[in-house]
Amino acid sequence: MDSMEKIVSLCKRRGFIFPSSEIYGGLNGCWDYGPLGVELKRNVKQVWWDDMVAHHDETASMPGAPATFGMVGLDSSLLMNPKVWEASGHVGGFSDPMVDDRETRARYRADQLAIYRVELVAPDGAIESYDEMLFAAPGEVGKTDVAELFEPHRKRIASLQKSRGGREARPVAVPNALQDEALRAKVLAPGASTPGTLTAPRAFNLMFKTHVGALEDNSSVTYLRPETAQGIFVNFKNVCDTARVRVPFGIGQIGKAFRNEINPRNFTFRSREFEQMEIEFFCRASDSAEWYRYWRERRYQWYLALGIKAENLHLREHDADELAHYAAGCADVEYDFPFGRSELEGIANRTDFDLRQHSQMSGKDLRYFDDQETNEEARRFLPHVIEPSAGADRGTLAFLCDAYAEDEVGGEARTVLKLHPRLAPIKAAVFPLVKKDGMPEKALEIYRALKKRFNVYYDEKGAIGRRYRRQDEAGTPFCITVDGDTLTAGSVTVRERDSCAQTRVGVKELGDVLSERLGA
Ligand code: ATP
Repeated sequence: MDSMEKIVSLCKRRGFIFPSSEIYGGLNGCWDYGPLGVELKRNVKQVWWDDMVAHHDETASMPGAPATFGMVGLDSSLLMNPKVWEASGHVGGFSDPMVDDRETRARYRADQLAIYRVELVAPDGAIESYDEMLFAAPGEVGKTDVAELFEPHRKRIASLQKSRGGREARPVAVPNALQDEALRAKVLAPGASTPGTLTAPRAFNLMFKTHVGALEDNSSVTYLRPETAQGIFVNFKNVCDTARVRVPFGIGQIGKAFRNEINPRNFTFRSREFEQMEIEFFCRASDSAEWYRYWRERRYQWYLALGIKAENLHLREHDADELAHYAAGCADVEYDFPFGRSELEGIANRTDFDLRQHSQMSGKDLRYFDDQETNEEARRFLPHVIEPSAGADRGTLAFLCDAYAEDEVGGEARTVLKLHPRLAPIKAAVFPLVKKDGMPEKALEIYRALKKRFNVYYDEKGAIGRRYRRQDEAGTPFCITVDGDTLTAGSVTVRERDSCAQTRVGVKELGDVLSERLGA
């Protein structure tokens, strides 16, 4: 099993993540979080909310960042006036070009189907390319596994090499091959038996359409929101008028978003229903470059502070040709998932594009009014926006992948989730060493006292070593064991998940010790 399969299997086995409506065969791109998964994902969202919104300390700006600032929250509706999506550009432009394979009936996003041609390299370095040998591999150019790429074509390539005198063969990417009818006709699709089975790329709007009210005609069409951000923009004036915020300030929102992804895959990474954690940060145009850098760094550091290993986390600045036409900068926080390096979060400098669009479409003046500004011209302006946009499901998956480890304890193999204590679904488990001598009663008493403060778990079944390992797999940072000494000396052992080190702690101090060690 590769490591992704192991993680998916652990998620199923331990109740982190299940396929949606599984007893009916599931629904592609939709997932359900089980008892452990829901705690983990809620913690991801709660920690984000606490760090970015509720407990954000405006005096704790990073060195070099401009003035202090406030952060407030919002919870806007999933269904909105369809004009929102016209103004945002989603109705006209939120589409991915899609390609179908007529033979295998597989569907791909055109930008995620890399097309290669075979080149033969002669001993003297001369290159011959063969368009009869175009083939497609799932994945973006540069992100496909080139060694595996040749596998399905080995026979054809071997005979070609033979006829050309045993030259070296290599795959070379052919950009935009699917747009070219003649080239497309020669492409062998993944799993297809003959070339030319792929259709031309077609635009495919990713928004789920639905109808509001009893009439199912064009006048009642609206969409399930494909992002939470627009709910923030359309409430910008409401928040300014009510929350006593002053630019620069940010509005954060966590909520469901829906996209009819052409090719949902990689477990929860690309789902059709998912949750976003988004901030729209409003500032003056002249400060926007500095705030952009600030948020890029702050969001990157957030993952590191929650235990993601630095070698697996990357901040990638987009090239100018990758930027949306209105954007002044964009960077992705990327994580090395077992299936490859992929986007966890995007941080974009969106200029005043969104507020301008909504001002025009709604006819409402969305300019900010700065009553403390004396310069008349600078008093009213459309703020510029920095948008850190994260996925709660992608974040949860990254935390799971990063925490997953297999090691050995006392000569026995174990699987452990080394989750940060703030994220761990269960904070501590309480065990009686044996099921007699008053130990279960004492352990239950401790469990009940702790349960008022933390999400703790009680388990008395099976050998103590097995109980430890069950908790290691669930990511529980501490196991508390009641033994003979508990009844006489009033102390328990506290075993730490990652090091397996055990210390004795007085029952009376237990709550505070846990609180300190959990960082709660
Ligand atoms: P991608 O290029 O992977 O489709 P995107 O650039 O379209 O992503 P954004 O529109 O910037 O994504 O959305 C912001 C965040 O929302 C992403 O960084 C990701 O964490 C999350 N997200 C977007 N689409 C999905 C999805 N289909 N499933 C899960 N999370 C998603």
